[in-house]
Amino acid sequence: KRPGSKSPQIPKANHSPTKKHRPNPETPADILKQRESLAIFSVKEKLLAKIHAHNSCIIIGETASGKTTQLPQFLHEGGFSRQGTIVVTQPRRVAAVSVATRVAQEVGTELGQLVGYTVRFQDVTSPATKIKYMTDGMLLREALGDHLLKRYSVIVLDEAHERTIHTDVLFGVVKKAQRVRLKRQLPPLKVIVMSATMNVDKFSNYFNKAPVLYLEGRQYHVEVLHSMEPQTDYLFAALVTVFQIHKREPPKSDILVFLTGQEEIEAMVHTINDIAKGMPATCPRLIVHPLYASLPSQQQLRVFQPTPDGCRKVIVSTNIAETSITIRGVKFVVDTGMVKAKTFSAISGLDLLKVQRISKAQAWQRTGRAGRQSAGSTVHYSLIRISYRLYTQQEYRNFLDDTIPEIQRCNLASIVLQLLALGVKNPASFDFMDKPSGESMKCAFTELQLLQAVEGAGEAVCLTDLGRQMASFPLDPKLAKVIMASKDLGCAEEILSVVALLSVDSILFTPQQKIEDAQAIRRKFVSSEGDHITYLNIFRAFRGLPEHDKHKWCYENYVHYRNLNTACNIRQQLRDLCLRANIPLKSCGQDMTSVRKCLTKGLFLNAAELQREGTYITLGPVKHKATFHPSSSLFGCKPAYVLYSEIVQTTRCFLRTAFVIEPEWLYETAPNYFRQSKGANR
Ligand code: ADP
Ligand code: MG
Repeated sequence: KRPGSKSPQIPKANHSPTKKHRPNPETPADILKQRESLAIFSVKEKLLAKIHAHNSCIIIGETASGKTTQLPQFLHEGGFSRQGTIVVTQPRRVAAVSVATRVAQEVGTELGQLVGYTVRFQDVTSPATKIKYMTDGMLLREALGDHLLKRYSVIVLDEAHERTIHTDVLFGVVKKAQRVRLKRQLPPLKVIVMSATMNVDKFSNYFNKAPVLYLEGRQYHVEVLHSMEPQTDYLFAALVTVFQIHKREPPKSDILVFLTGQEEIEAMVHTINDIAKGMPATCPRLIVHPLYASLPSQQQLRVFQPTPDGCRKVIVSTNIAETSITIRGVKFVVDTGMVKAKTFSAISGLDLLKVQRISKAQAWQRTGRAGRQSAGSTVHYSLIRISYRLYTQQEYRNFLDDTIPEIQRCNLASIVLQLLALGVKNPASFDFMDKPSGESMKCAFTELQLLQAVEGAGEAVCLTDLGRQMASFPLDPKLAKVIMASKDLGCAEEILSVVALLSVDSILFTPQQKIEDAQAIRRKFVSSEGDHITYLNIFRAFRGLPEHDKHKWCYENYVHYRNLNTACNIRQQLRDLCLRANIPLKSCGQDMTSVRKCLTKGLFLNAAELQREGTYITLGPVKHKATFHPSSSLFGCKPAYVLYSEIVQTTRCFLRTAFVIEPEWLYETAPNYFRQSKGANR
């Protein structure tokens, strides 16, 4: 039974015709039954009474007790939406969209009517919307325009235990809005904080000793199995474990696998499907679903389809499925113990996306996902549920107890810019639940100063006009600066495309088995000036095609139709913001030097210099040693200086998207900074 102890039998391919399994659609009666079976249902009146009596409440409930989907409906039925909309924040886009879709279905209306959602670059609401799901980042953005959040009667800050940077800042913003509205005798604002874990004192104290309500979920016992030996290849170990479970367990005992990111997940889904083709006919049919943040909504919702008879569902997910999304029917969890998370080094000012160990709290949340009750089902009552941890007990003991709040491990430039735009005089003294370190605050100010977004120092720091305009873009300050700089360089048309392309997941589509094919076909787009120009070449070709040819063209050229399409939408919205900021939409034609110079105006802090032995060193106080990622256009090239927009660390540091620059551009952009660091003078 030990995970990873044996390699899976990979039988010869024996293609069976793919039959489409139609899941039974849920009837309104099914939905009602499911709703009534949730733990929250029995305490509805009690909850409403408490919320009536107090301005702020904390609700702690195990996952799948019905907090996210039911509470907003209760509030609506209870009349809380008469004086404004009920808004529920989610740290993740996927969760906002999938939950809104579900709730619209439960209420029996079209999405965007009574129930809607707003996520970055996508707004599915109307004046009729009374229950609105929103990413925390979007609500914060909205607060920039309306500090008192006047259109809302109730703000539910959901998934508070995740402590994302946006939720953390929202705590302070809504607390203040609530106080000011009370003082000015405006309609009151109810604040509800919902969380899955038990660290409640902190939340309650912060919200002036708000009452705490507990919800009990129904949880089966889950057996926990650890690896005997440390696993060197967690992907392989996960694959082996999935097939060990699959060969042994009856159909409909679904499996949830935790991996770290899109690429890994897509590759795993592919491999599982491949191996499954060769399984004997006696094995249940496998239905494999990926689940990650950038998956299109339609595909996300497929994970919720009930598993058809005689089949088994395998969901391969990022930590999205840890708490924010519950999939019924999961009986086995395969936990790699890994997560991709941002880690920030205040000294180097770098946000690194890094695959790292989860916390003990996360490990228990993952384990718990195997024990959720499937509503109304008693069939598999006696079945055991197991969480396979692909790490040893000893390794587990070394995990951190709790995940560190994002605000204590991220680059704060964007947040400081937003706080200043919110009218917060001294962001360092903002009412944070957990204060970020002084060092990372200082680092953020320095970055914003170098970007010319702020001036002054200490308590006298304030936004410049440029900074104010930068804050109006839903982008990292560096990219906002790039857009602002395109005005003088006359290349806004190109820059809008590049920034839109940097805001989506990779537009390159490279199946593991076809790497060489893909690269050969895409060679015609590759620019020796770097990835940003390569992307632009692809995007220009894509946009020039008639609509009905695009799909086929993407398929043939190994590029990602969906991500390119998303980039088109994002570009459209950035274009509107540009016009509002009085940036003329000029094109520089084929002059890519202007494009690179313009990018330098915002990305100059991300410089890297070639070393004698052929690797790169990032410039700045701390030197990271890095090489080009194999997927980069510059892989195998050796330009003296580059700027990158993404650096990832796996076993080594990789510059993922980079372009070539002249060192003079760095001096021109930030003379003081580059004179000090002796990086760029050779
Ligand atoms: P909590 O917020 O307490 O974790 P939720 O309200 O998210 O609980 O979930 C309650 C139930 O609703 C779960 O059993 C979950 O599987 C179900 N659910 C949520 N979204 C969907 C969906 N899109 N389709 C089907 N069921 C869903
Ligand atoms: Mg929830």
